[in-house]
Amino acid sequence: MKVATKKLKSVARFGARYGTGVKSRVLEIEQKQKKKYNCPQCGFAKVKRQARGIFQCRKCGAKFTGGAYIPETLTGGIIRKMVTQKSFVHSIAELLEATEKTKHKPSVEAEEEHAEKHEKHKKHKHEAEAVEE
Ligand SMILES: [Zn+2]
Repeated sequence: MKVATKKLKSVARFGARYGTGVKSRVLEIEQKQKKKYNCPQCGFAKVKRQARGIFQCRKCGAKFTGGAYIPETLTGGIIRKMVTQKSFVHSIAELLEATEKTKHKPSVEAEEEHAEKHEKHKKHKHEAEAVEE
């Protein structure tokens, strides 16, 4: 029986299981993951996730690595810039700032690891979204 699937979107497949907090975080990641991204080689929005950290363009076939769920993360982008420009000193402050941000608001990758740890924290945040149970 499918009733309140409007807000649940892709996580509606879990039904009444696992709790709204966990599901809303899964939804947040899945929406980013399923989005079409622009190819770094040909520019077409045809990049699809193949596996964790592996992305492939469906237009030109370019295969490249990136974040676990999205082709390029904030910290990954900074590292890439540091390597290509070979200027590590200037970007370190920027990188530290970005890392600091991900500590407060866990990134996609960090979230997977610390899912259980943060389970209690985010409850109040998503309480308003409780549609079932
Ligand atoms: Zn391409």
